[in-house]
Amino acid sequence: MKYRHTEEAKNKIRLANIGRKHTSETKQKLSLIRKGQHHTKESKLKISNTLKGRPLSTENKRKIGLANKGKKKPIGFGEKVSLFRKGKPSSFKGKHHTEESRRRFSLSHGGTGISHEFEEYPFEFDLIRPTILKRDNHTCQFCFKFGNHVHHKDHDKNNNEPSNLLTLCCSCNSKEVNVWTKNKKVNHVNINN
Ligand SMILES: [Zn+2]
Repeated sequence: MKYRHTEEAKNKIRLANIGRKHTSETKQKLSLIRKGQHHTKESKLKISNTLKGRPLSTENKRKIGLANKGKKKPIGFGEKVSLFRKGKPSSFKGKHHTEESRRRFSLSHGGTGISHEFEEYPFEFDLIRPTILKRDNHTCQFCFKFGNHVHHKDHDKNNNEPSNLLTLCCSCNSKEVNVWTKNKKVNHVNINN
C-alpha cells in the first residue's frame, strides 16, 4: 500500500517549501520521477488555467514550436484558427506577393512556376466570359458535358478574342492545364466563330 500524506502534513510541506527553490539536482530527480507520468485531465485544466493570459517567452515559444514540429494538427484546427481570425484584419493587407513567392505558389499548386499563371484575369475577361458561355451553351467543348470554365486556347489571359476562348468543364479544364504543364500541344477543338 502507498503511503499518503495527511492533509495537515501536506500543508506543512507546502509552507516549508514556500520560497524555496529546487536545486538542479532535485530538479533532475523530479524530472526523472515525472517522466512517463501523465497529467490527469483535471490537473491539465488547472495548469492551463494558471497559464492563461501569461505571455510566453520567445524561448518557450521556440520550444513549443520544436515540440510541435511534425505533429499533425487536430481536425478542425483550421476552422478554429479561421474563426479566431474572423473580423481581424489580415496581416497580408497592403502587402504584395513577390515574384519569387508567386513562382513558388505556382509550383506548389502544380503549375509551371510562371509567376503570372495564377494571377487574376483581366477585367476584359470578366466582360466576355458570360458571352462565351452563352455562345457554347454552357457545354464543355471537349466532352460535351456541362461546363462553366472559359479557357484560353493560347493560355494568354490577355488574349480575350472570342476565337481564343473556349468553354470547358471543370475536369477537362484541369486536364488541359496538366497537358500544358508538360509542354505538349493540345489539339484544340475547332469552333466556327
Ligand atoms: Zn469536359
